[in-house]
Amino acid sequence: MKFTIIGAGIGGLATALAFEKAGIDYEVYEKVPVFKEVGAGIWLAANALQVFDFLGILEHIKEKGNAVDRFTIGKPNLTPIADNIQSEVKEKYGFSTIAIHRSDLQSILINSIPKEKIFFGKEFKSYDAKSSSVVVSFMDDSSIETDFVIGADGINSKVRKQLFPESKTRYSGQTCWRGVSDFSLVGDLKNRAFELWGNQIRFGFSSISPQKVYWFAVALSKRNGVDDKRIIKNQLLDRYASFDPLVSQIISSTKTEKISRNDIDDLIPLASWYNKNICLIGDAAHATTPNMGQGGGQAIEDAYYLSNIILRNSDKGFFQLFYDKRKHKVNQIVKNSWSTGKMAHIKYGQSIRNLMLKNMPQKLMKKQMQSILEIEKFS
Ligand SMILES: Cc1cc2nc3c(=O)[nH]c(=O)nc-3n(C[C@H](O)[C@H](O)[C@H](O)COP(=O)(O)OP(=O)(O)OC[C@H]3O[C@@H](n4cnc5c(N)ncnc54)[C@H](O)[C@@H]3O)c2cc1C
Repeated sequence: MKFTIIGAGIGGLATALAFEKAGIDYEVYEKVPVFKEVGAGIWLAANALQVFDFLGILEHIKEKGNAVDRFTIGKPNLTPIADNIQSEVKEKYGFSTIAIHRSDLQSILINSIPKEKIFFGKEFKSYDAKSSSVVVSFMDDSSIETDFVIGADGINSKVRKQLFPESKTRYSGQTCWRGVSDFSLVGDLKNRAFELWGNQIRFGFSSISPQKVYWFAVALSKRNGVDDKRIIKNQLLDRYASFDPLVSQIISSTKTEKISRNDIDDLIPLASWYNKNICLIGDAAHATTPNMGQGGGQAIEDAYYLSNIILRNSDKGFFQLFYDKRKHKVNQIVKNSWSTGKMAHIKYGQSIRNLMLKNMPQKLMKKQMQSILEIEKFS
């Protein structure tokens, strides 16, 4: 029983590692010939870290990344609106969140998988489902025959476009600039993450290592905008000039080539993630806006559940069992993340919004967080 994974992003690589651990036969095909460094970090919440613990790479993640124990949604001057101190999470799991450079995460994952199982420069073109196998064709005119295909090729998945041609992404109206700055956050700021809400703009940041700060800046914008690289840094500095001076210092200490721009899209939830021998995971199946910092976490959880379900149900029905197990949590995150993004950028009623956030019952917030961070144990 051979599985062909299309895409070596977070979800594809985590699935490969989970299959490796489970003894499931697999190969990964990735379109880029070599990975380019992405100028961005990622916050890995405790659900993702539990999976990495299970997969045996948690210590590497801890070593390369930075622990974040307190999340603050704040006003532009850093005053907290809502503060989430993660001591209970830390007590329960032994860790809370780790912020890490995306390239470091990618290297850790790749180095944990046998080299001969990953093929680079192989862009998926289409598949042809036969009665008991699938022929996968690539853009270089080569093809392979396999038993099952896992589409882990991200939000604009070609596998999904063939499997569910009616599927649609939707633009949130918000665009995000991300960067990694050569800057040190010290003292109380070292293990904190901030998201500062201004007038329809946001700025978030945290340390990812002693000398590097990952940041993101979100604003309303038309879709498919293009930056003029010569002035983008000054444009961002102007936009956030009324924020705490720390924000300008972080932007100023970023090399222009380390600033990237992405429209914030998600995927309208699908009624299924599979058909016969072809199944989607990660952003290909359920891309979410990044407002809850859970897109990567959910792709990593997919890897965990899919491998464990296949291992225990190798004869039949594993893709349906996988979808049944995952759909509720994932759809809830997509929905809540979308509304959080809208709330963050409201034009009118910002003080009422802030007051409501400030007075949100702690018990409710903890319950919501718990439902996201919990993963099932397989014996
Ligand atoms: C601004 C922003 C901030 C975010 N912050 C966080 C965060 O803090 N925490 C978090 O958990 N998540 C975060 N996310 C979400 C997270 O980045 C994604 O959910 C995650 O990367 C999804 O992983 P994936 O493997 O499904 O897709 P991707 O990471 O997109 O990987 C897809 C892979 O498939 C390859 N590919 C594409 N097409 C083909 C093809 N035709 N053939 C072969 N290969 C192909 C691509 O090259 C790529 O390597 C954020 C997202 C954004 C946009």
